[in-house]
Amino acid sequence: MTPAPVRVRFAPSPTGFLHIGGARTALLNWLFARHSGGSFILRIEDTDRNRLTAGAVEGLMDALRWLGLEWDEGPDKGGPHGPYVQSERKALYHAWANGLLEQGKAYKCWATPEELQRAREIAQKSRGGKIAGYERIYRFISDAERAQVQAERGDAYVIRFAMPLEGETVVHDRVRGKIVFDNADQSDTVLLKSDGFPTYHLAMAVDDHFMQISHVMRSDEWVPSLALHQQLYEAFGWPAPEWVHLPVILNPTGKGKLSKRKPPVDEKGNPIPVMVHEYRELGYLPEALVNFLTNIGYSFGDDREVFTVEETIGRFDLRRINPASGTFPMQKLIWLNGKYIADLTDEDFITRVTPFLQAAYGERFEAASLHAITPFIKERVNPLMQAVALIKFLYVYDPSPAEELIMKKMDAAQTSTILERSHALLSTIEPFVHTATEPPMRDLVEALGFKPGQVFGTLRQAVTGQLVSPPLFESMEVMGKATSLQRLAEAQARLAAG
Ligand code: GLU
Repeated sequence: MTPAPVRVRFAPSPTGFLHIGGARTALLNWLFARHSGGSFILRIEDTDRNRLTAGAVEGLMDALRWLGLEWDEGPDKGGPHGPYVQSERKALYHAWANGLLEQGKAYKCWATPEELQRAREIAQKSRGGKIAGYERIYRFISDAERAQVQAERGDAYVIRFAMPLEGETVVHDRVRGKIVFDNADQSDTVLLKSDGFPTYHLAMAVDDHFMQISHVMRSDEWVPSLALHQQLYEAFGWPAPEWVHLPVILNPTGKGKLSKRKPPVDEKGNPIPVMVHEYRELGYLPEALVNFLTNIGYSFGDDREVFTVEETIGRFDLRRINPASGTFPMQKLIWLNGKYIADLTDEDFITRVTPFLQAAYGERFEAASLHAITPFIKERVNPLMQAVALIKFLYVYDPSPAEELIMKKMDAAQTSTILERSHALLSTIEPFVHTATEPPMRDLVEALGFKPGQVFGTLRQAVTGQLVSPPLFESMEVMGKATSLQRLAEAQARLAAG
């Protein structure tokens, strides 16, 4: 018998932006599908109507696309098992919940919050703190009682799953191995809510079955619900999918899980973003983030850390997912991102950095100077957003005040000499390229008896108005001779005036 094709899904709830943990779940699903020639499905789980956020679906799709995780079936693409949005599949959930009702595998529960609270308190007192199953108020009532409540309270009910009361539920997880649940510890979970929407549990089971999902790969936060999910499949008479529970990602410090509620910090105590779009806006490259996310809690069994996505797909193996939670080593991400940026072709670098500069400088941005400066900054900007400050002088010149022109252990007169002599020397040099300007300028520094840092610090402030810039002579070359000389002269004038 040929094994069923691999069909996996990413099933986000549209409650906000794509979280880095969600991105990793999506990535591992996608890698598995691509490795095995299977399908990757995007399903929108929007049954919790109170938590919906406008624009979230578009945001999630944008982030997935940016990471390169294209799906084969989904809300925008359609596919043979649609619709791929749960709110459009309500009839199906009703039909199957009602089927369970008819078979006595689920029951209607009319309990009000007050009734439930009372049942809980009673259970707590009488059963020494063991309260599992306290909610079974309407499970064992007689048919006559049921008819009476139905007549009195009508449709104000939820449908609860009738969990087996005894025995064990044994589940095999591909990451954790065998997991055994004691059924006596389980509750009767709500499947269909009184607003007519299913809970996650019902919708997930029905959809994964009808979408022919072969492997449910999701966060291991769902492990506590696994007994219910396995029992649900049995109640429906469907084979359960393969379960693959992925360990959560921990903070860089290793303490606590990476969450959006408690902003995490890196190894040095600085806050770090947790949303994919934030990394995008800072100028992390998607390929660096994908490489980085693959390495968390996953190992190819060698020490290498840099992989192309094609190689990752080729070598992907479910057995290499580590059952222990992995931390989020922020410094590694920074390192990887720097490496990916440095390895870009100049042209690719320009394409990627341009939007950042355009957003910052609008009309004042122009491409020619970016082209010229690129070889000198490619290895210095990480993330790309840093280019905005580093090469600001090419688009916006904020002259440094006189006192900032004077370096440590220097005075105004010495600084003025530097500016004057540099101006005089540089004005004689043609062509005005860094290979022609730098050697005589270094000779001048020596002749004047100053340290290179003192002279070049002054010149940098004078021509760029910045404390930090790309290499000085390369920067002047890109600015051009006229601008460089003009700024030197103006700086000297400011110094004289100040
Ligand atoms: N909608 C669920 C969530 O956002 C999906 C979990 C799953 O992959 O089954 O957590």
